[in-house]
Amino acid sequence: MPTSPAEPSGAPYDLAVVGAGPAGLAAAVTAADAGLTVALVDAEPRPGGQYYRHPAPGLGARRPEALHHGWPAFTTLETRLRQHKQVGRVRHLPGRQVWTIQQSCDHAGRWTLLTTATVPPHDRAAPGDQNTGEAPGESVPAHHLLLATGTYERQLPFPGWTLPGVVGAGGAQAMIKSGLVLPGRRVIVAGSGPLLLAAAASLSAAGARVPYVLEASSYLPYARRPGPLLRNLGKLAEGARHAAALARRRVGLRTRTAVVQAHGTDRVTGVTVARLDGDWRPLPGTEQHLSCDALAVGHGLVPQLELAVELGCATRTAPDGTPALVVDSFLRTSVEGVWAAGETNGVGGAQLALCEGELAAHAVAAAAHGETTAARTAAALRTRATRLRAFADLMARVHRPGPAWPQWLRGDTEICRCEEIDASSVREAVDTFGAGDTRTAKLLTRAGMGWCQGRMCGPAVSCLVSGDGSAPVSADRRPLSRPVPLVQLARHRPQGRP
Ligand SMILES: Cc1cc2nc3c(=O)[nH]c(=O)nc-3n(C[C@H](O)[C@H](O)[C@H](O)COP(=O)(O)OP(=O)(O)OC[C@H]3O[C@@H](n4cnc5c(N)ncnc54)[C@H](O)[C@@H]3O)c2cc1C
Repeated sequence: MPTSPAEPSGAPYDLAVVGAGPAGLAAAVTAADAGLTVALVDAEPRPGGQYYRHPAPGLGARRPEALHHGWPAFTTLETRLRQHKQVGRVRHLPGRQVWTIQQSCDHAGRWTLLTTATVPPHDRAAPGDQNTGEAPGESVPAHHLLLATGTYERQLPFPGWTLPGVVGAGGAQAMIKSGLVLPGRRVIVAGSGPLLLAAAASLSAAGARVPYVLEASSYLPYARRPGPLLRNLGKLAEGARHAAALARRRVGLRTRTAVVQAHGTDRVTGVTVARLDGDWRPLPGTEQHLSCDALAVGHGLVPQLELAVELGCATRTAPDGTPALVVDSFLRTSVEGVWAAGETNGVGGAQLALCEGELAAHAVAAAAHGETTAARTAAALRTRATRLRAFADLMARVHRPGPAWPQWLRGDTEICRCEEIDASSVREAVDTFGAGDTRTAKLLTRAGMGWCQGRMCGPAVSCLVSGDGSAPVSADRRPLSRPVPLVQLARHRPQGRP
C-alpha cells in the first residue's frame, strides 16, 4: 500500500509530519527508513526545531555546534534526511506553516494539510506572487498524519515585562543559537524550569555577564522523589554540568525568588526581585534592586496544540498545568490515523522528543503495512520513552507556577501585549461582567485576539479568570492555527470534516 511517490504531483504521501524539531525529524527519517513516503512540513527555514536551532549559513558561524549538547545526533538525522530527499522518499517543505488540516472524503489521501509560506510578524510584504502579493498556498495530501508541533514559552506578566530588553529565556537561546546575538551584556535569567539553567549557560558561554539565575520554585522536591531522577542519570549529569558551568562563571543561583518588576524607560535597566513563599507569594520586606541591561525570563513551555485540538484530539492537563495530547503507548491520539510525538504530548526535552519521534514512526509504519501493533523493534523505545516521560512529569510538577503569582500584577500591568489589555480590564471582565472562561474574557476585552493569538497572554488570562495562578491552561480551539493571507482563505473550498 505505501507506494506513492514523494513528489509535489498531488499523489498522497504515506505520512505527513508537521514539525521538523527533534521529534518530527526523527519520525520522518525513521518512517522513510521503513519504506514510507513522507512529507515533512515545518515553519522554520532549517530543520532542528527549537533545540537544534542553528545559524543561517550566511552568518558564517564557524562552530554552530558550540551551544549544543548532542549535536552529532542532529547531524546524523540531517544527513539521513538529505539522503532520503535525494532518492525522493522524503519531501521537506521548510518555511511553510500548516494553518489547518482537513479530513478528505475522496481517495486523494485521508488528510490534507493546507499550508502557507511563513511570514515573520514584522514583514508585511509576504513572499509570493509579484502581481497579487499572495504568499503561495500548497495542499499536502497524506494517508497518515503525525503532529510534532512542539511548544512555545509560557510568559507570566509582571510590571515592566514589555520593556525592550526583556526577552523569553527560550527567546534568548533562540537569539544566540540562530542569530548569534546577545540580548544584552549583563543579563539576569529568571522564571522557572530547567530551561533557565540552559539559557544562563549559553548566555555566559557566549560572552554575557549573568549575575543571577532566579528560580521561583525550589529544587528540593526533586530530592523528595528520587525515583525518576535515579532512573534518568543522564538528566542528573546534565543538571550537574549546567551547575558546574554556572559556578565556573560565578553565576549566583537563588531559588524561591522572582522578578516582580522591571524598571527602565527606553529599555530595561534593572529589576526588583523578591523572595517567594511556597505559593509564589512575594514575602514583604525581601525586595531588592538588581541592575541589568537585559532580562531573560520564562516560566516553562506550553504545547502547541491548535491543529490537534481542531482535529478533535483529546487533551489532558499535564503536571505543570499545561494542556498536552492524550496518546497511547504507540503515540496514537484519540483520532484514528493521527499520531503525536515530542512536546505536543507534554513538555519533556529533546531526548524524549527524539525517542517519541522514532517510536511514532515505527507505529505508523506498522499501521501502513497493515499490522495491528507496532513492530517489536519499538519495545526498547517504549521503555525509554516511559522512563523519560516519568522524569518529565516530575520536572513539570516541581516547576508548576504557584497559585499566588498574580499578586505581582498591578492594575495597569499589560496582560495581552498585542491588544494592550491590562490586568484591571481582565479582572473587570471577570468580577463585573461575569466572564467565567478565557473565551468570554477574550470576547469582552480582546485579550488573545492579536497577532500571537493568545500564545503570550493565554496562560495568564486562564489564571486571572479562575483566580488561581496554578490553574490549568486551557487548550483553545482555533480553526486557523496560524495567520493566513485572506486571499488563500477566499480560495479555499471546505471539505467534509471528521
Ligand atoms: C523558544 C524555545 C527555546 C528553547 N530552547 C531550548 C534550549 O536551548 N535547550 C533545550 O534543552 N530545550 C529548549 N527548548 C525546549 C525544546 O523545544 C524541546 O526540548 C525540543 O526541541 C522539543 O522537540 P519537538 O520536536 O517536540 O518540538 P520543537 O523543537 O519545538 O519543534 C516543533 C517544530 O514544529 C514547527 N511547527 C509548529 N507548528 C507548526 C505548524 N502549524 N506548521 C508548520 N510547522 C509547525 C515549529 O516551527 C518547530 O520547528 C526550547 C523551547 C522553546 C519554545
